[in-house]
Amino acid sequence: MAHIVILPGDGIGPEIMAQAVAVLDEVNTRFALGITHEQHVLGGAAIDAYGLPYPEPTQKAVRTADAVLLGAVGGPRWDHIERSIRPERGLLAIRADLGLFANLRPAILYPQLAGASTLKPEVVSGLDILIVRELTGGIYFGQPRGVRTLENGERQGYNTDVYSESEIRRIARVAFEMARLRQGRLLSVDKANVLEVTELWKEVVSEVGRDYPEVSLTHMYVDNAAMQLVRAPRQFDVIVTGNLFGDILSDEAAMLTGSIGMLPSASLDERGKGLYEPCHGSAPDIAGKDVANPLATILSVAMMLRYTLRQEQAARAIEQAVGQVLDRGLRTADIAEAGQATVGTRAMGQAVVAALREQAAAL
Ligand code: NAD
Repeated sequence: MAHIVILPGDGIGPEIMAQAVAVLDEVNTRFALGITHEQHVLGGAAIDAYGLPYPEPTQKAVRTADAVLLGAVGGPRWDHIERSIRPERGLLAIRADLGLFANLRPAILYPQLAGASTLKPEVVSGLDILIVRELTGGIYFGQPRGVRTLENGERQGYNTDVYSESEIRRIARVAFEMARLRQGRLLSVDKANVLEVTELWKEVVSEVGRDYPEVSLTHMYVDNAAMQLVRAPRQFDVIVTGNLFGDILSDEAAMLTGSIGMLPSASLDERGKGLYEPCHGSAPDIAGKDVANPLATILSVAMMLRYTLRQEQAARAIEQAVGQVLDRGLRTADIAEAGQATVGTRAMGQAVVAALREQAAAL
């Protein structure tokens, strides 16, 4: 038995989430998972209902849930309101409240979509990288920070990149565990030749590595990693890095796949409870038009089943169903090649549900 809180959010959120819930309900029945779920508001929808992006009923529900599934938040309607209560603050607040320190961002390129990448198909086809980014520490949170005025009257901006051993150790553990479930190769990215904080990072990751003799650990400077990601990205399996480098490298890796509409993500706490969401935003430009790609959210359901609910079979069934619909040539507008026919959000979701039913019937 597991209880899930569903936060459709804003913009395309409700449309893509409706399809993800249909897929979740389908595997729930087929594999007798006993999952229950309830919906709450976050972001702009919560501001409209309660005046706050992360209101109390949502807080209460997510704290006791086993996992949270989120669409996306934000939109121009709420861009003029005070910064501290904007929709995106709801996202930062829920991450901090739940202690979600490990951000998992897979960059998978389905061979059927190799033409969507800006890189040559032979460089990216079959790409399957998992980036593990530390999410609650480093330079984004370090103190002191600010803008001060020097004695000569010039203004100076400053931030602090800081990681304690325990913070490094817990994210390293997550990364080694992930590598163990995959091809057994972990790359730790740092800038240890220049930054002391990442010298410690490298040292502590290596120490943790002694507990995982089955995982091969290598290290790379961030500038080289950024270069290697576009030169020969298939050399990577799991990459672990801090908040700042992870922010940049995970977006770079995402773009190797050509479509942000295909990419799920997970943020986990110390006990493996997670918030699962697509990598993209609320896409207000296409909201309400039944054209958004629901696959990133559907694949987020698969990640939730794998990493928090430990239902590998159901997770694989969803990923396989997504492969089946792509094999059949179904494409939403964002992943279609020039001249290719497209389907809408609902039709894509229904096709995944139909593929799941066909799998069950074929058994
Ligand atoms: P975005 O990801 O929403 O959109 C970028 C582009 O990608 C747009 O052209 C959009 O139409 C397209 N796109 C995104 N998702 C798609 C999908 N599933 N299918 C097809 N096309 C898709 O980023 P943005 O435009 O910079 O931000 C829009 C709003 O979303 C802003 O308010 C921003 O703050 C918010 N945002 C939220 C999150 C989140 O909730 N995690 C993340 C990023 C941005």
